[in-house]
Amino acid sequence: MTHRTAGAPPAEGPDGNLTKAQRDLQARARTFVREVLVPREVEFEQAGGRMSRAWGMEIRRAAIEARLHGGSIPSEMGGQGWTVIEQVLVHEQFGASTGGMWSLVPGGYEVLKHGTAAQRARYLDPSLRGERTGSYAITEPNAGSDARAIEATAVRDAATGEYVLDGEKWFVTGPDDTDFMIVNVNVVDGETRRPTLFLVDYDAPGLRQIADPDHMHTFADRHPRFVLEGVRVPETAILGGVGEADELSNAWFVEERIHIGARCTGAMERLLTEAVEFAIARVQFGQRIYDFQGVSFPLADSAADTAAARLLTRECARLADAGEDPKVLHAKASIAKLFASEAAFRCADRVVQVFGGRGYLRETAAERFFRELRVDRIWEGTSEIQRVIIARALEKRGVDRVVG
Ligand SMILES: Cc1cc2nc3c(=O)[nH]c(=O)nc-3n(C[C@H](O)[C@H](O)[C@H](O)COP(=O)(O)OP(=O)(O)OC[C@H]3O[C@@H](n4cnc5c(N)ncnc54)[C@H](O)[C@@H]3O)c2cc1C
Repeated sequence: MTHRTAGAPPAEGPDGNLTKAQRDLQARARTFVREVLVPREVEFEQAGGRMSRAWGMEIRRAAIEARLHGGSIPSEMGGQGWTVIEQVLVHEQFGASTGGMWSLVPGGYEVLKHGTAAQRARYLDPSLRGERTGSYAITEPNAGSDARAIEATAVRDAATGEYVLDGEKWFVTGPDDTDFMIVNVNVVDGETRRPTLFLVDYDAPGLRQIADPDHMHTFADRHPRFVLEGVRVPETAILGGVGEADELSNAWFVEERIHIGARCTGAMERLLTEAVEFAIARVQFGQRIYDFQGVSFPLADSAADTAAARLLTRECARLADAGEDPKVLHAKASIAKLFASEAAFRCADRVVQVFGGRGYLRETAAERFFRELRVDRIWEGTSEIQRVIIARALEKRGVDRVVG
């Protein structure tokens, strides 16, 4: 039997279905998280997450050395070409660290795969080398859960063939040195509005950051707001085609929801590991607090939550790899994301309680997770929106296909 020390991310879960190569990948990710990310957590938290670019570049270099960059990007495009289950194995490990420092691992949004060769050379290739980072800007002041309500526009200038972009984008997530965005705007064509993705450099004239507010978590990513005022881009800045934003973004949402399920699972396993170790060692009233059922039962519930979240997420990944009907997969990813994110927050709350006053200290991982896991119930579609997707699928695809 092996024992882990407090602060260590989870060892691999019991899963006889993994190949030797997958176990090796999992081990590589675990080593990276334990040796590169976890030792930096407290320093990062104490600095309010504001570290130098050089500090971030060190993490990027270590990730490239560990061959963890560009996981979901095909190998012929310079990525690792992992299957979805392999992505999940790695994200389970990433989730076991606090501060979201895994977001510094070089990569590219899945939609960049749909770029032209020139777009990939300009955005994807340097992203995979850790030299550039992109954000994905959909949300606006009046368009959150209902992304169809976006008001940002792109109007074609017939004289030059350029598009002129105007609008305001919120929660534009990325590390401090992010330098381009994939922005969702409506191409205006007479009376029609066609949601379209554009690639825009942060130094484009007319693109301006208007706020960089602090959020509940201390994260490697910031979430600033931007305005676009008459930003002129060539037609070659369109990613995919005019009117294709929803389809392209939906594929990314499904992938990202599966990743969230995986990271929440990893977070829960670490929380549980630290809580069990603490509760076994901590003595009050002359006995181990672990022997009080008021302490151990919430941990037992957390174990059930962790195991269930892992199974749901990995099943979803396997179905994605097997080419499941995208509509059914959409609902399954929502189930995994809904369950795992709600469970992880419950688990963090319970573990803060098990640690007592120590659970309220920022140097305790449980305190940080308690703040950090909250957003997993909000981004990439709130829990309520996941329920909307699931309920719709129950009716349209059938209960047996959604839960079978
Ligand atoms: C830290 C952080 C990072 C983010 N990063 C990005 C990013 O990189 N790019 C990006 O584009 N966006 C990003 N977002 C935005 C995020 O996707 C939105 O916050 C989220 O989709 C919810 O939208 P909203 O905040 O406008 O809330 P609203 O849509 O206004 O929702 C408010 C409340 O109403 C509920 N609600 C809304 N509609 C329904 C319904 N039909 N049924 C039931 N309940 C409903 C919601 O669940 C929620 O509880 C980020 C947000 C955060 C907090």
